[in-house]
Amino acid sequence: MNPTVKCNVNTCTHYLYGDRCGAGNIDILHENETKMSEVVDQTMCKTFHDAKNVFSYLGSADNINALGTIAGIINPEYKVSPTVMCSVSSCKYWGEGSICVAEAIAVNGPDSNECQDTNCQTFILR
Ligand code: SF4
Ligand code: SF4
Repeated sequence: MNPTVKCNVNTCTHYLYGDRCGAGNIDILHENETKMSEVVDQTMCKTFHDAKNVFSYLGSADNINALGTIAGIINPEYKVSPTVMCSVSSCKYWGEGSICVAEAIAVNGPDSNECQDTNCQTFILR
């Protein structure tokens, strides 16, 4: 199972109008590698690439859901959603093999400048 992703991080190269994500896969991680996340704010979408930085497009170019992104740009209603890998094992939705068993997740952080500014809003401490 793979959750549907809704994301409002409008400064990410993968962001598509309608709070959709055009990445092929996203990685949700603990913000601090040495500390288990205990609250939403301690999680992040590591796949964030800053759209203000032109090199970000090159860095993120190999992780694009190309067909979905094109369809998503043409049709704002088109459902686009990446696969999700998550290492936040302190979350109640975390499953063996770094999967997320939630039906849907919300990635949050409008105007983010870096990964650390983004969060998985669906995180709940297990
Ligand atoms: S922040 Fe993450 S979920 Fe949001 S558009 Fe970027 S890659 Fe996708
Ligand atoms: S809801 Fe939990 S398991 Fe799913 S992506 Fe977010 S932090 Fe990871």
